[in-house]
Amino acid sequence: MTTSVPAHTETPNNHRKGYVYIIGAGPGDPELLTLKGERVLCEADVILYDDLVSSELIERFSALKIYTGKRKNSHHFEQDEINDEIVRHALQGKKVARLKGGDPFVFGRGGEEIEVLRNNGIGYEIIPGITAAHGASAYTEIPLTMRKISSSVAFCTGHPINKIQVPDADTLVYYMVASSVHDVLNAVVNKGWQDDTKVAIVQNATRYNQKIITGTLGELKKREKAVYSPALLILGANINQFIENNWYSKKKKVLITGDNEMMYNSEEYIAVPIQCHQVEGADRNLVNQCFKTIEEYSVLLFQTKLSVTYFFKYLHEYDKDVRYLGKNKIYTTSHTALSELLKYGVIADLYFENECSEKITSILQEKGVENENILLPGSNINNEYLVNGLLTLNNKVTPLSLYYQGAKERGEAIDLDFIDEIYFSSPTCVRNFKRCYTTIPETIEVITPDQKTKAEYGKLFMDKT
Ligand code: SAH
Repeated sequence: MTTSVPAHTETPNNHRKGYVYIIGAGPGDPELLTLKGERVLCEADVILYDDLVSSELIERFSALKIYTGKRKNSHHFEQDEINDEIVRHALQGKKVARLKGGDPFVFGRGGEEIEVLRNNGIGYEIIPGITAAHGASAYTEIPLTMRKISSSVAFCTGHPINKIQVPDADTLVYYMVASSVHDVLNAVVNKGWQDDTKVAIVQNATRYNQKIITGTLGELKKREKAVYSPALLILGANINQFIENNWYSKKKKVLITGDNEMMYNSEEYIAVPIQCHQVEGADRNLVNQCFKTIEEYSVLLFQTKLSVTYFFKYLHEYDKDVRYLGKNKIYTTSHTALSELLKYGVIADLYFENECSEKITSILQEKGVENENILLPGSNINNEYLVNGLLTLNNKVTPLSLYYQGAKERGEAIDLDFIDEIYFSSPTCVRNFKRCYTTIPETIEVITPDQKTKAEYGKLFMDKT
């Protein structure tokens, strides 16, 4: 008996309206995204994302990305325009990911967006996210409920001021308080809360620059402290003495340049990758030329996760998949690239750590990387140690630039006041960093893996002459 191909295997792009996923990105820490959210973002054709979505998170995905927030120097999107944009892409048959900070249904206007989708007959689903209150609660050790102390919790808004409500609950969490802390405190006092009630204001919850301001209601009412967005305010008897030295604030914050996050264990450190703007910018003719002659390369060597992501994106656009690489050995020097390769069904033939730049030649020799014809997919900046090491061992090396790394157009600047340590992985990283940050505060410990990087750091940051 023959079976016919079921209708649902037809490619959605040609035959029906697109589909929209409204996804909560969580409060900041990129690892707080759900597995389902991550899967959908990997598959999406276009991602429309908001202000509160961290650039570290968004950079992981290769879809077309459209920023719909209100950052300076970029177009200020009104909600109607965002709705139109979502509908426009969906009607082109695309898989659209609408990515919002926290949870889409907690002060997220997710409700309005699905109404527009319903009206246009576009299919959708909603993937929840960790809302800021939950992120702040966990990362400051303030339980929102506690047996015998707090048996109810309410999420409220501090904006606009005339909408401030004080519900009857043991714990109150106020969102959007950056410009209205005093209005919220006054409203709470007017409702009869005592001056000795504990209050915590949490700025940038779950991010490397998380900051907690605490005090009693009476104290905070008197203090004119600037509060920066995003911030929320928590009130109630459950705010206890642990918050000053909580598990998250104890960790060292390390600014990492390059792809060496694995050097720092996550129990002691928070790795903050430097936000060097990474953009697509490959010379597509060159890329296609490389694909055409791919069999000539005995090895494809991936140094970063992004090099894998872009390589496969372009390979798919070239109408080929992993089977096309059957004749190439695949090597990688990065743990994150190793896992990214797995997503495309590739188990690397060789993986070696590249953390000690000066020893790279002997590592390569030990692993037998000699006399090969190597394609090095990566960015416009190459690891000079690796390339030199490879050349020394009689390899032919062809770098292939798939994306650009530049320091000028950074998305978010890193606030160095929150950083304990900086790790420069190469002289190029030092030079890139210098283009954004002219000085490094003396309180920050600077780590370099070798003499050349140390010398470059000395020249650019320590030389006062
Ligand atoms: N949908 C989001 C809330 C959007 S409203 C959620 O579920 O979290 C924007 C407000 O959320 C901010 O003004 C702030 O009060 C709060 N917020 C979002 N991210 C935050 C963070 N990392 N730290 C503190 N507050 C945050």
